[in-house]
Amino acid sequence: MNAQNLPGHPYVAYRDGSLYIEDVRLDALARTHGTPLFVYSKSAMLSALAAYQRGFAGRKAQICYAMKANSSLAILQLFAHAGCGFDIVSGGELDRVLTAGGDPAKIIFSGVGKTQSEMRRALESGIGCFNVESEAELEALDAVARSLGRRAPVSIRVNPNVDAKTHPYISTGLKGNKFGIAHERTLSAYQRAAALPGLQVVGIDCHIGSQITQAGPYLDAMDRVLDLVDAIEAAGIHLHHIDFGGGLGINYNGDAPPAADALWEQLLAKLDARGYGERQLMIEPGRSLVGNAGVCLTEVLYLKPGENKNFCIVDAAMNDLPRPAMYEAYHQIVPVALRAGTASNWDVVGPVCESGDWLGRDRSLELQPGDLLAVLSAGAYCMSMSSNYNTRGRPAEVLVDGDQAHLIRRRESPADTFRHESLL
Ligand SMILES: *Cc1c(COP(=O)(O)O)cnc(C)c1O
Repeated sequence: MNAQNLPGHPYVAYRDGSLYIEDVRLDALARTHGTPLFVYSKSAMLSALAAYQRGFAGRKAQICYAMKANSSLAILQLFAHAGCGFDIVSGGELDRVLTAGGDPAKIIFSGVGKTQSEMRRALESGIGCFNVESEAELEALDAVARSLGRRAPVSIRVNPNVDAKTHPYISTGLKGNKFGIAHERTLSAYQRAAALPGLQVVGIDCHIGSQITQAGPYLDAMDRVLDLVDAIEAAGIHLHHIDFGGGLGINYNGDAPPAADALWEQLLAKLDARGYGERQLMIEPGRSLVGNAGVCLTEVLYLKPGENKNFCIVDAAMNDLPRPAMYEAYHQIVPVALRAGTASNWDVVGPVCESGDWLGRDRSLELQPGDLLAVLSAGAYCMSMSSNYNTRGRPAEVLVDGDQAHLIRRRESPADTFRHESLL
């Protein structure tokens, strides 16, 4: 058999010209479940997690999967079984984690706009920590906790003002971003939190952005956060844990982010040097656990060669896979069956009525109508950002485990998309 791996995608490979995820043929899945279809590799997710676990061997560390990257229940269940906690950003995500069997004590709740009812529900569920993003939120959380006769465990999200060198929409640790409390105001915010009877200070956190491909911004942020830990503890406020957020990038198009274990070797050396190596650590990775574990299968509907551009119209669109439209993100697009022939340049676009509805531009592909294509690196921020725009039902999802394929979400029907509406 002739096997051909795709660089950066160890669980996706051609065997005799046909694309597989683990030991399952993707064309067979498309036949059974239709397209567009998301397919994930369980081994790819667990091996991405294992890189972090190796990095933290012998340390006190809790990995909290940032579930907004991919919040499908079966995926949450997989990470819960593997010992992960969860970083949530809404009451809806809390419900998902609890439904999937996640441990509430290992949940941390991030986000700049938690409502009082979300706070109440999270307190009643016994979550591990609220990552508070403003002084006003401290006061609101204190009031909610006191009304329930509880103390809310809190960490303050610091904005370390470092440039994560990523896309502006996914950079979160700069002064001009809406996230966290400014470095200069952090100490006074901690003093206020420590004085409020409804709060219990347990930690400090930061999260500087997403799709970070260099160690430098992490090392800078760590220094800035540890300077604050020094100051906060000198003021008599003990921090049980330090949370360094998520953000590690993946290889979309030749990107070369550090491996999680190599990155943490560097970061842990700095923590040790500054005397915090024994502290309880938390991290919140999302994309790096799931991004390259998934592909989106789509069928070529029509070829529309033109004077200036050739369009390849496929049955997946911006509602299924919003990253190209939203961030001009690059996803590799490869044929599910290799075929000899001459390739031409195609813009791969969806059926939605927007010029922003494209999946890839200027791609060299040898195509015929009816062909199947695989959009790679589709495990993170694709299905979780999908919508019903143009009254398109969301795709189905399959999780592959060796030679087994499990349908983990059925395709939405049109009726599913207007289930909550009523006629006059
Ligand atoms: C989105 C997010 C993460 C995860 O980011 P990734 O780039 O997917 O690793 C972690 N923490 C917070 C607070 C987030 O908002």
